[in-house]
Amino acid sequence: MKPKHVVIVGGGISGLTTAFWLKQGGANVTILERDHIPGGTMHTLREGGWLVEAGPNSALETTPVFKEMFAVLGIKDEHRYADPASNKRYILRNGRLHQLPMSASLFFRSRLWSVPGKLRLLKEPFVGRADREETVAEFVERRLGREFLDYAINPFVAGVFAGNPEQLSVRTAFPKLYALEGKYGGLVKGMIGGARERKKRAEVAKDRAQMFSFASGMQVFPDALARYLGMAVQCDCEVTRLMIRKGGAESLPPFSVEYTLGGKSSVLDADGLVMAVPAYAAASLLESHVPVLAAQMRAVYYPPVAEVFLGYRADQCAQPLDGFGYLIPAKERRQILGTIWSSSLFPGRAPEGHIGLTTFVGGSRQPDLVSLSEAKLVALVRSELGALMGVRGEPAYAHVERWEKAIPQYNLGHSKLHDAIDNLEATFPGLAVCSNYRGGIAVGDCVKNGKATAEKLLGLSRAAGQ
Ligand SMILES: Cc1cc2nc3c(=O)[nH]c(=O)nc-3n(C[C@H](O)[C@H](O)[C@H](O)COP(=O)(O)OP(=O)(O)OC[C@H]3O[C@@H](n4cnc5c(N)ncnc54)[C@H](O)[C@@H]3O)c2cc1C
Repeated sequence: MKPKHVVIVGGGISGLTTAFWLKQGGANVTILERDHIPGGTMHTLREGGWLVEAGPNSALETTPVFKEMFAVLGIKDEHRYADPASNKRYILRNGRLHQLPMSASLFFRSRLWSVPGKLRLLKEPFVGRADREETVAEFVERRLGREFLDYAINPFVAGVFAGNPEQLSVRTAFPKLYALEGKYGGLVKGMIGGARERKKRAEVAKDRAQMFSFASGMQVFPDALARYLGMAVQCDCEVTRLMIRKGGAESLPPFSVEYTLGGKSSVLDADGLVMAVPAYAAASLLESHVPVLAAQMRAVYYPPVAEVFLGYRADQCAQPLDGFGYLIPAKERRQILGTIWSSSLFPGRAPEGHIGLTTFVGGSRQPDLVSLSEAKLVALVRSELGALMGVRGEPAYAHVERWEKAIPQYNLGHSKLHDAIDNLEATFPGLAVCSNYRGGIAVGDCVKNGKATAEKLLGLSRAAGQ
């Protein structure tokens, strides 16, 4: 049965997208968002000609859902694809930046891996299946060898999850990669078969999808969603308690949501409820109803990350900024995870004649670094940029954004949490969980899952995250 009123707890991109599709489907919806603006981690700052992304710097167009939404929201004109040069990415090895090869011939000429490391890849089609749940590191080392793990997957995982391949579960963190082995018996065979299937679903693999942002930054997207949803988005409203009734008296609604606004407590009744908050926030709200699940949610690790944006005159940097930027393998023992060459990706990120560099510090590799003072973080990044890119002198602009709990880690055993959430939704019809700890952390995953969540609540299709 189609719900008459759905309350969504959390107005990040997951909650906003769910609300968009519910409204499109004719449902009445209210988002309760704790902060004074919606968007969650998707937040852009503009200051004196500099444009700084506090959260995601861009998104990959992995799903047609983006374009469907941008057309309705009227933001197609603001949409910008990244400079084609952004396909060029670098990895640090022995203190030098090496281009990540994007074709077979570049791969064989690359000095990023040794000859035995490259030859090891030829064995991949002949490696058998695993008989237990593996970490990303175990899976990659078994199929592709240690060197590929150290100098391709380790830095990639740091770039996507700010995570550690020795802890992440391959099945939940990279489900499509994992499925290639299960379904096709190997990565090479699977890439061929998988491409055919994606074509049928009009989806694009992450390594082929185009990267995009907006002329005025990523926040254009949540801002446009908030305009479209109008009074349905209620900011400064922190949800403090949920009342969930299963098979109760007919006169009572299945859900009541208590929230505070300006120190005053209020209650909203609903016949649909979407939890679009981080796992630790959902745990507090669900504790009294499903304590075992709440404990599983609370156990999800969110490592801290600092994004340090530094602006320089172009002539202060010796490195040609001819790509996306670089990632750093743990083996290189540096104090940063990598740097995005922000001003080379999209126009308008730095004043004329200047460059903007976004460097990531911390993650599950070096979480303690994030608690350094702002001055020490800037000094640390300046020293690393000097050593790796030949950046000299004082920055013209600096901004530090610290995320104490940045990105959920889909560590070994995370699939048990996914199963428990499926069970929760089956037990309480009308209740849905849509957040980046389920079904993928990328903006494209959140958007795809937001649409699937709305369709499920509207009785149109299967669950999100499946
Ligand atoms: C530093 C960083 C860089 C990233 N870079 C990229 C990138 O380049 N590309 C990419 O695709 N992805 C990137 N990501 C990941 C992506 O941005 C996130 O996964 C996605 O934005 C999460 O959206 P969400 O709505 O699920 O959660 P959130 O954005 O966390 O939103 C949850 C919302 O719930 C609200 N909330 C919490 N508790 C309550 C409560 N009790 N009551 C009411 N509201 C509450 C919060 O205020 C918040 O607004 C990055 C993430 C981070 C942190």
